[in-house]
Amino acid sequence: MKMVTLEDKDRHYIWHPFTQMKDWLEECPLIIKEGRGSFLKDIYGRWYLDGVSSLWATIHGHRKKEIDDAIKEQLEKIGHSTLLGLSNPPAINLAEKLVELSPKSGSELRTPMGRRPNSELSKVFYSDNGSTAVEISLKIAFQYCQHKGEKGKTRFLSLNNAYHGDTLGAVGVGGIEVFHNIYRSIIIPSLKAPSPYCYRCELNLTYPSCNIECAKELERTTSRHKDEIAALIIEPLVQAAAGMLISPPGYLKEVRRICTENNILMIADEVATGFGRTGKMFACEHEGVCPDIMAIAKGITGGYLPLAATLTTQDIFNSFLGEYKELKTFFHGHTYTGNPLACASALANLEIFEKDRTLDMLQEKIVFLEDRLRPIAELDHVGEVRQKGFMVGIELVKDKNTKEPYPLDDKIGVKVILKAKEKGLIIRPLGNVIVLMPPLSISPEELKRMVGIVHWAIKEVTE
Ligand SMILES: *Cc1c(COP(=O)(O)O)cnc(C)c1O
Repeated sequence: MKMVTLEDKDRHYIWHPFTQMKDWLEECPLIIKEGRGSFLKDIYGRWYLDGVSSLWATIHGHRKKEIDDAIKEQLEKIGHSTLLGLSNPPAINLAEKLVELSPKSGSELRTPMGRRPNSELSKVFYSDNGSTAVEISLKIAFQYCQHKGEKGKTRFLSLNNAYHGDTLGAVGVGGIEVFHNIYRSIIIPSLKAPSPYCYRCELNLTYPSCNIECAKELERTTSRHKDEIAALIIEPLVQAAAGMLISPPGYLKEVRRICTENNILMIADEVATGFGRTGKMFACEHEGVCPDIMAIAKGITGGYLPLAATLTTQDIFNSFLGEYKELKTFFHGHTYTGNPLACASALANLEIFEKDRTLDMLQEKIVFLEDRLRPIAELDHVGEVRQKGFMVGIELVKDKNTKEPYPLDDKIGVKVILKAKEKGLIIRPLGNVIVLMPPLSISPEELKRMVGIVHWAIKEVTE
């Protein structure tokens, strides 16, 4: 067979992520060649609004001049050198910046036994994607306990509906059945606590009269197993991949308190929530929480290049110090760790946050988006519209009164996004949840257009 088009070649050679390839082969793939601002352009010159920031990564838009220039400038110097035994200026300067920007603790409770005399994040370990940033977090937490002589602390605690990445360690702390079930026999399962998913409360309670019982359940599990648990891992405020499940106010702070009181480490997976998505630089800041370990990736380079980082406290770092023969070294590292091009791109990304006052400018757009979304919540088959900053999940239901979900077979989410594509909007569903996560730089006019298309597409498909 002679393959003439890029579509043919794609279908012939590429195995796409998170994609049922049987369906894909029947579809006509959309091939993106260029981008500008909030828009993507396909090989035929058609433009589309990028409603999910190219999978939650793009921050200041595509072809942002400052980031383009920073990468070009770095390219004139060197494309890659290693952090194993060497260092490089962009990696050093970015680490300083990340530590400066990292969430600081507020008035959270500290017990006298609290093991965190130095509780700010102060060290940066680089990797190149969110899953590895999580693996590193887990390994560091475990090894820290070993170094401290707490040899029995070999387990992790995570939430139902959690998503922390696709590598096996990350799948072990995952809690999304459809993704993770098949691997059950080859992963190390974590202890689980309820998902703070108020619309479908696992405990059949209603916020706020529940008094956040899900946190109390988490507390009971934690204290029962505290001698076995090295760390709790959580997506702060928003369980993103599960469908933008937003935890009730005060929940995260409770989690911090529970970790501190039970002497277990708190790992915040800010891979999705970091870099302004929730309206603050990091989601933990909403509740004045400083985790012991923080994993970041997706938006770190402004959506340009693969880069991730795991931040830890000084105390954790110190526990890895010793004579070489003690073997306290963290024996972990990836080939492209601290890649200078990616770090230069991340530095430029963070400079734009300051220069363009991105977070200040965002606040009004968040309110504007909230206003525009309101009519969508009124639709007959919209169960709930959830929004935290620029992270939005629209949960479609078969029956609004009973909250009966659409069956998986209906592929209702997929139908809606295909409709939206007809009108020039790229979005992706998570099951029956339509996700919107535009670049922070999107204009109010573009926001209006995005929400308008979504409204129309949902109506077309469900009515
Ligand atoms: C996307 C995501 C990951 C995984 O990141 P990758 O770069 O895709 O490996 C981990 N945690 C959370 C919360 C995420 O949203």
